[in-house]
Amino acid sequence: MPALGLAAPVTAPLSAQRPPPRPPELRPSIPDKARKTEPQSTAPASAKTDNAATPAGQSSCLSALSAIPGNRVTPATPSTLEKDPACRIDDPVRVEALAIRGSGGAATVSFEPPPLLSCAMAKTLAHWLDSSVQPLARGHFEQDIASLRVGGGHECRRRNRASAGPLSEHATGQALDIFAFKLGIGAGASQVVVEKPGGLTQSRFLDAVRQSACGAFMTVLGPGSDAAHANHLHVDIQERRSRASRFCQ
Ligand SMILES: [Zn+2]
Repeated sequence: MPALGLAAPVTAPLSAQRPPPRPPELRPSIPDKARKTEPQSTAPASAKTDNAATPAGQSSCLSALSAIPGNRVTPATPSTLEKDPACRIDDPVRVEALAIRGSGGAATVSFEPPPLLSCAMAKTLAHWLDSSVQPLARGHFEQDIASLRVGGGHECRRRNRASAGPLSEHATGQALDIFAFKLGIGAGASQVVVEKPGGLTQSRFLDAVRQSACGAFMTVLGPGSDAAHANHLHVDIQERRSRASRFCQ
């Protein structure tokens, strides 16, 4: 049964999420550190010319993400492309960090390790972290969300690692598995592990995060859904037959 999200609005169709390219004179320059995260050998040559009048090879999705200070998202080439043509990522990016509005101003959420995702997935993730997860972290712990321990970005495999059956949403970079949410920095830092929340407040935080994910993504699975998702939260933006057929367990 689809559930209502707390703070996240219903996601618009993917085609409607992509804003038109920004005119070059309005495009802010991208911090140097944002360009150096992907090895030069795997980045398309066009990615180095993203301040050019026509950013050839850079999608409007990536241009929009790159324009936001704090986002560390770079074009990437999946290494598994040659193995199976079905495992194709539309607009692949490596996500090192995404910007959020922190309690003290602009802040970022980093990814450990940085996943390879479709740009559309990165954009959905960015919106969810800023509009839902960060406010929930403030509300439950009075701390900013600092990083996510993740797995299962791009992986060319079938659902639940079966030898046959439909391809996993991970095969197309449309999915992410979240194992833990890290909060705060320095001595006050803490983490909420999806498999074993420590106490009532952490449990309530995870419940609320999961509920909000149901509004932001197409599918949300986690502990209690099935054995394959007992230790992580799976979120993906794979289109279902209809907008109403979201899958949220
Ligand atoms: Zn997954």
